[in-house]
Amino acid sequence: MTSAREVVTALRDVVGDEPFVGLHIPDITALEKQRVQECLDSTFVSSVGAFVTEFEQGIAAFTGAAHGIAVSNGTSALQVALELADVRAGDDVIVPTLSFVATANAVSHVGAQPYFVDSDPDTLGMSVESVAGVLRAARSTPDGLVNEATGRRIGAIVPMHTLGHPMRIAELVSLAAEYDVAVVEDAAESLGSRVGGVHTGTFGRLGIISFNGNKILTTGGGGMIIADDDELARRARHRTTTAKLPHRWEFEHDEVAYNYRMPNLNAALGVAQLERLPGFLDAKRRLAARYRERFAGVPGVTFLDEPPGTESNYWLCAVRIDGGFAVRDEVLAATNDDGLQCRPLWNLLHAQAPYRHLPHAAVPTAEALHASVVCIPSSPALAAS
Ligand SMILES: *Cc1c(COP(=O)(O)O)cnc(C)c1O
Repeated sequence: MTSAREVVTALRDVVGDEPFVGLHIPDITALEKQRVQECLDSTFVSSVGAFVTEFEQGIAAFTGAAHGIAVSNGTSALQVALELADVRAGDDVIVPTLSFVATANAVSHVGAQPYFVDSDPDTLGMSVESVAGVLRAARSTPDGLVNEATGRRIGAIVPMHTLGHPMRIAELVSLAAEYDVAVVEDAAESLGSRVGGVHTGTFGRLGIISFNGNKILTTGGGGMIIADDDELARRARHRTTTAKLPHRWEFEHDEVAYNYRMPNLNAALGVAQLERLPGFLDAKRRLAARYRERFAGVPGVTFLDEPPGTESNYWLCAVRIDGGFAVRDEVLAATNDDGLQCRPLWNLLHAQAPYRHLPHAAVPTAEALHASVVCIPSSPALAAS
């Protein structure tokens, strides 16, 4: 039986005795201040500027994607990526029920509907078997694959790498290819996570990353679309920057588009953070190793490790607590009472107000994960404590 007290003691052994220990605190140093100051001094604080290009090229080089398109946040990145994957209004998009609400909201923003599937107990990611069940039951039509459960065309599949742990992306991509359905990767949480050395977000037709304040690298708010295809990248850039045709002074726009460009000020912060990313990744790996070792002896508690064959960024370290919601909530109460900011996983999307009326696949594993996983303090600075 898990004792909440024992979890508090174990966490304190690793993170030290600061009265408040946040779940994930941005790590800002003189370097960030210097880059942001340079940006302010340049007066190019808004949607045009050299930091945006430098940040895009830096993320592309880091992930191995041919192109990066910096945008206002991860949600807008996913919305545009879905549009460019030819998801249409009225389509279904297959989404894990265990994800942050943005994954489903981006689907709604393009007029499509999420069709929620189950999760994999080992990776916390979308279950490939659950997706295979939907695709196998689907009807092939001249217009594409039609979901048996809803009568809607299946426009895309959106896997997500939960807490930074890579899901079984190679298997999913080959399954999707068999059925000719596009994969758009929600790599919002997994900057620095790789499968067989290949960066997450580069397996699908397009991928997206978030740089929100709580992510491993922050631009304040921000996101990026990553893609290998030149034409998709060109269209992503065009559509997120008002679809303006290049001209020295004319304002001519050739489609209804968005103002989703990342401001240069945010990109300046991103450029500095990107320089420090290898250090963040190293710190998180050391923190994860200390948690793993400390929790090994705690009964009823399992530290969540990176899946075999993958390299996780350990964005949020987490433990699985045996005993269901009641014990999970005891642990959440005891840790938070002690100043240790711990959090459960998100409430499952198929049960949230905007989505609970939708049909969905059976999701027993996601329900079990929701009842048992607790995210624990994961700031890179904790590796030094
Ligand atoms: C953070 C996050 C997003 C959205 O990113 P924002 O930048 O906050 O819009 C999307 N999906 C997942 C899984 C996330 O964790």
